[in-house]
Amino acid sequence: MSQTQPIVNPFAEMQAGRPTGPLVQGYEVIIGFETHAQLTTQSKIFSRAPTSFGAEPNTAASAVDFALPGALPVMNRGAVQRAIEFGLAVDAHIAESSVFARKNYFYPDLPKGYQISQFEIPVVQGGKVEFFLDGEKKSVRLVRAHLEEDAGKSLHEDFVGMSGIDLNRAGTPLLEIVTEPDMRSSAEAVAYARELHKIVTWIGICDGNMQEGSFRCDANVSVRKPGEPLGTRREIKNLNSFRFMQQAIDYEIRWQIEQIEDGHAIQQATVLFDPDTGETRAMRTKEDAADYRYFPDPDLPPLVIGRDWVEKTRSEMSELPRVMAARFVADYGLPEYDAGQLTQSKAVAAYFEAVAAASQQPKLASNWVMGELSRRLNTEEKAIESSAVSSAQLARLIVRIGDGTISNNAARQVFDALWTGEGQDVDVLIEAKGLKQMNDSGELEKIIDEVLAANAKNVEEVRAGNAKAMNALVGQAMKATKGKANPAQVNALLKKKLG
Ligand code: ADP
Ligand code: MG
Repeated sequence: MSQTQPIVNPFAEMQAGRPTGPLVQGYEVIIGFETHAQLTTQSKIFSRAPTSFGAEPNTAASAVDFALPGALPVMNRGAVQRAIEFGLAVDAHIAESSVFARKNYFYPDLPKGYQISQFEIPVVQGGKVEFFLDGEKKSVRLVRAHLEEDAGKSLHEDFVGMSGIDLNRAGTPLLEIVTEPDMRSSAEAVAYARELHKIVTWIGICDGNMQEGSFRCDANVSVRKPGEPLGTRREIKNLNSFRFMQQAIDYEIRWQIEQIEDGHAIQQATVLFDPDTGETRAMRTKEDAADYRYFPDPDLPPLVIGRDWVEKTRSEMSELPRVMAARFVADYGLPEYDAGQLTQSKAVAAYFEAVAAASQQPKLASNWVMGELSRRLNTEEKAIESSAVSSAQLARLIVRIGDGTISNNAARQVFDALWTGEGQDVDVLIEAKGLKQMNDSGELEKIIDEVLAANAKNVEEVRAGNAKAMNALVGQAMKATKGKANPAQVNALLKKKLG
């Protein structure tokens, strides 16, 4: 315990030298995030009860979760494993020894009267989350990530004049991930949350389901005049979609500025976002850490993690999204933007790499995966795993664009036919639909001669220096070839013939 420094809140000093962001009505916006990621363990953090979602109330809870007298918590090794993986993924320090503490408060869904969490010495310390925002690289520093148990739920709807308690969620393992107040706009905050979501789902420690509450973000928001000390923050709770997140933060920023401009001081508070009104509403004034009377939990020994465990985990972790994105830039010569998009999930990255390898045309592969394929998947709300066009088929299509067999336009028609199941084989479809570009220059020359003969007036105008007339001739030639000619080739031939 002694070799690890307790984490104090050094926010104020750490803001020195941080760049300011875009000002809103002359105010600088400061945002810090606390995210609760539910870990993907089979059983709970301190008991053997299952972590299933949506079970009958109180069927997925054990004596420990019910807080029956004498029941003792036992640490779930899988939860620790996932905390280590997260720490490594964000370049953090994994504490050799961390401490579980009791966070005391009274609430019906918390039968013990305290939540087991980590306070002074968390398991994951420091670290950073990096991402691109409008082409600019951002790095948000993490303060910590600590293990804790979730509480149960109060059910009000199903009872008339009564409330019920469901303890199925009690004891569900959470990793609470806390940032420095490093974000400077709602857009940056959402980009951070998306990146964090990508990391935890990529390494598989969290299923990322925001609707079911597996990934819950609280945004701490304050404003200040540039150069002033940090303003008082309000914490927006439980933002369960990225869209609401942006709306809620934008509303909160405007509200705080209005208050200050009207001469009111901001009170530290916890607020809820109401998607129906688009407004945030104060829920309670905020407790301070002292109100929770934290103290080390005597039921649990310090969590000791040997270096060998950390190193074994490191060696077994798959390539991280930002490492993979850097590789896409270096190996395939892709823009950073493409690399970021293509590493949005492991499945998308794998699909792209298969297409790039089989077609040997990474940029075209990237364009098609991010363009036509994504568009189709989005409109049909399908995941790439169930794409109607396989990576092998898309690769074949790209080869045929690359070798000049078909134009981009024709390729879109073939893609469509593959998607709807009209055919399976790219070459057969190209043949059947008569989409082959005309590469036989003899045949093309003949057609062009006919076009020139039939459009004498245009020819004269071109000779007189009229560029528009040239376009008209290209158009005529393309029409005569039913769009199968390569426009560049038509242009070149026309120029040659007209001198
Ligand atoms: P608590 O645990 O009581 O909610 P912390 O001190 O741990 O509070 O901070 C919680 C979050 O609030 C952190 O993400 C931090 O970055 C952020 N934060 C702290 N001060 C400010 C501020 N003035 N404006 C915006 N965010 C802040
Ligand atoms: Mg908090």
